[in-house]
Amino acid sequence: MLRNFSYRRAASVKEAVSAAARPGAQILAGGTDLLGCLRDEIFTASTVVSISGIKELKGITARPGGGLRIGAMTTLTEVAESKEVSSAYPVLAQAAAAAASPQLRNQGTIGGNICQRPRCWYYRGDFNCLRKGGDTCFAASGENEFHCIFGGAPCFIVHPSDTAPALVALDARITITGAKGTRTIPLASFFVLPEKNVLKENILEPGDVVTEILLGPPAAGSKSMYRKVRERGAFDFASAGAAIVLTLSGGKVGSARVVLSGVAPVPWRSAEAEKALVGGSLDAATAAAAGEAAVKGASPLEKNAYKVLMVRGVLEESLAALT
Ligand SMILES: Cc1cc2nc3c(=O)[nH]c(=O)nc-3n(C[C@H](O)[C@H](O)[C@H](O)COP(=O)(O)OP(=O)(O)OC[C@H]3O[C@@H](n4cnc5c(N)ncnc54)[C@H](O)[C@@H]3O)c2cc1C
Repeated sequence: MLRNFSYRRAASVKEAVSAAARPGAQILAGGTDLLGCLRDEIFTASTVVSISGIKELKGITARPGGGLRIGAMTTLTEVAESKEVSSAYPVLAQAAAAAASPQLRNQGTIGGNICQRPRCWYYRGDFNCLRKGGDTCFAASGENEFHCIFGGAPCFIVHPSDTAPALVALDARITITGAKGTRTIPLASFFVLPEKNVLKENILEPGDVVTEILLGPPAAGSKSMYRKVRERGAFDFASAGAAIVLTLSGGKVGSARVVLSGVAPVPWRSAEAEKALVGGSLDAATAAAAGEAAVKGASPLEKNAYKVLMVRGVLEESLAALT
């Protein structure tokens, strides 16, 4: 049941920050995640603050000096279909196109996609789990086939976003405006592991509004791609996926970013896979070495050891496709 709340449509970021800083307020972007959470009483809202009327949060624009600015209220469809994104950052266009269904991508925004709450069925169900302030992670010894194999404990969620790993692989930065002012930080430092704070997936404080995502110009000779494996072809969250950004020079990998999706509570950067790639030729042997390196630190739960093989397979297939 959807409980009563008051509704505020902010006309500016300043107004949104001040309304969202009030106790129990929640920010509403496209609503595809928030409204489901409120309806299912995962959490409640005293006030819902819509940011959909704030013009400066919308659209994709070129940055002076190169790169793109993507407003937080830009829809996933706009990101997936943008020529500027797909030509310079294929990994991001592919990730946005792989998220959810066409209807959800038309309504859901990139800001909402990186801020969405986890999909763990205990968190979303009638369980007072750790993430809801309880004292038990029911996934630890329960039905944990869709849970994490990296970075878990005390809670074993996976981060549900497809665009977040792509953006982290692109070294994106994110701008947040809150009661204390505006800051721009690397997106990689936005996400929070359960060991640091089991109640939150990111560093946002009440009243903080994500306003934009900033991408630098792509490096010369860069190639990128996003690939995810999911149970249901039509639309589904990643069981495992990988965002890869490489530069090639003289047939060798000059630099590499490998960020995994669907396997950790945050977009999971695999420094081991990156190390296995840099300096090598982009061939089957290097891809196999990267796949093996990526899963070295994996700690599967009772029912999700299949994800270890899946990560290797996704990496090997993606790297083969990039050759
Ligand atoms: C059936 C289904 C399948 C899905 N499959 C996938 C999938 O395969 N891959 C994937 O990546 N996603 C998937 N999603 C998630 C979907 O992409 C997200 O719901 C959507 O991107 C969220 O965007 P929104 O604008 O609707 O956010 P909202 O629902 O409005 O907000 C989501 C959360 O983010 C916060 N928030 C939103 N914008 C801001 C902001 N600018 N600043 C601060 N906080 C903010 C809200 O307060 C809320 O907590 C799926 C969703 C559904 C319902």
